Amino acid sequence: MNNEYDVIIIGGGITGAGTARDCALRGLRVLLVERGDIADGATGRNHGLLHSGARYAVKDGESARECIAENRILRRIAPHCVEDTQGLFITLPEDEEAGYGLDYQQRFIQACRDAGISAEAMDPREAVRLEPSVNPRLIGAVKVPDGSVDPFKLCAANILDARLHGADILTYAEVQSLILEGSAVRGIRVRKRRSGETAEYRARVTVNAAGIWGQAIVRMAGAQISMFPAKGALLVFAHRVNHVVINRCRKSADGDILVPGDTVTVIGTTSTKIPFEDCDDLNVTPDEVALLLREGSQLCPTLASTRILRAYAGVRPLVAADNDPSGRNISRGIVCLDHATRDGIESFVTITGGKLMTYRLMAQMATDAVCDKLGVSEPCTTHTALLPPTVDNAFTAGTPDGELVCECENVTMGQIRSAIRNFDIHSLADLRRRTRVGMGTCQGTYCVRKAAAALAEAQGSPADARPLAEEYLGERWKGMMPVGWGDTLREMEFMQRVFKAGAPSTFK
Ligand SMILES: Cc1cc2nc3c(=O)[nH]c(=O)nc-3n(C[C@H](O)[C@H](O)[C@H](O)COP(=O)(O)OP(=O)(O)OC[C@H]3O[C@@H](n4cnc5c(N)ncnc54)[C@H](O)[C@@H]3O)c2cc1C
Repeated sequence: MNNEYDVIIIGGGITGAGTARDCALRGLRVLLVERGDIADGATGRNHGLLHSGARYAVKDGESARECIAENRILRRIAPHCVEDTQGLFITLPEDEEAGYGLDYQQRFIQACRDAGISAEAMDPREAVRLEPSVNPRLIGAVKVPDGSVDPFKLCAANILDARLHGADILTYAEVQSLILEGSAVRGIRVRKRRSGETAEYRARVTVNAAGIWGQAIVRMAGAQISMFPAKGALLVFAHRVNHVVINRCRKSADGDILVPGDTVTVIGTTSTKIPFEDCDDLNVTPDEVALLLREGSQLCPTLASTRILRAYAGVRPLVAADNDPSGRNISRGIVCLDHATRDGIESFVTITGGKLMTYRLMAQMATDAVCDKLGVSEPCTTHTALLPPTVDNAFTAGTPDGELVCECENVTMGQIRSAIRNFDIHSLADLRRRTRVGMGTCQGTYCVRKAAAALAEAQGSPADARPLAEEYLGERWKGMMPVGWGDTLREMEFMQRVFKAGAPSTFK
């Protein structure tokens, strides 16, 4: 690693990863710094909905147009991260009573079409044929080009491509202060979390892509931005209940999106303003679980009797308007701030707001701002340049690399080794974010030992397999506890017994 760069990017979520890739593709010398693992913030804690834009069409035509344009681009540049599930916006009898009946459906369809989103009204029986799990009481449905996206893979693919184009990626390094010279930001001071060492890195421009934590980074530069921490809780169900995304055709509300992704289904979300200090310690409450189950069962009645795998929560990086720090006027759009014009601070850009869905456009806007400052005229190519796969997939059954480690998610030993080779992996949670190991129905009960042994061996300390596995199981339990009754409780008890019975010789 060098200590001098053209651009330093703070934050290894999807916005920072996309910006690092765009900057690297335009020939800049790039350093990305992330305090934990990549996709550890909101990027790894959302629905994974590949918005068509229909959700925003009635209220926010600009966001809707951005979403459908990016939806088409992502399908092209990242087919391995996207699933074309399609989406249904359904109307229930109670929606009609609340003023969101079939008249509203017509308004919704027109708004979608105005934004360039295909929206096709369906007969309710036809909708049930398309998605048999949908609430059969529906009185109307509209089909739109929603999909699902794997946020972990998408983020990792951007990081990998940034690196392939020369970027340096430094994870587990927390930016503690900015290097300020006169009215300009000249770089960062970091503390490396694993070694405790501190280091300085300098750059001609610094980009703040730290999501909700971006507020603290702006403060380090001596300026102010009012972020609005809106926590959202979600539940994961143990199998893929629906195959088409199901939304409610009404004003956006809690628990009105059901997204199938990989082997599971996710219901979300709630929205609660939380104190900024709580963003690092999120818990899902019993009230949130009850609300999500109640609303989810309206979309798909079988959810009420489906095993819940776990609960999790994230914080949306929303920005309050500059003249409205109370947060009453929240923007869900993209916010790209050039702090030279806004605050008189040179060489410093903040990119935040937006959505996972619009990350590429956000990255393009941030990179354009960086290139303007550096006098670089290289055009953006991320709307056409394909993203690479993040782990090698071709391993032959019967060979050591073809051995199946995680049966729920079909993860082979070869994929685990390839992820360890390609990325800076320190824990099984890092490995899970790269390969989905342990994310399935058994939550790691059957695979954690093998995965821990492979990681410990790669780290040159086989004796560490046990603590690695214990740390991982602790993390899994945190997500299972809020839904710890019925089948989930039985699974937890089973997991506990397996580990009591299996220790310690299995870790040798
Ligand atoms: C509940 C919920 C559901 C959502 N559903 C969807 C959806 O279905 N579809 C969609 O398109 N969008 C969705 N979103 C929005 C989407 O998740 C976010 O807009 C997006 O992930 C933000 O990415 P980011 O990179 O800007 O922020 P983050 O992913 O939060 O990344 C910021 C990173 O900065 C790092 N960082 C912070 N401080 C420092 C520091 N001092 N030094 C170094 N690094 C630091 C953090 O560790 C973090 O990794 C949802 C959000 C939530 C919360």
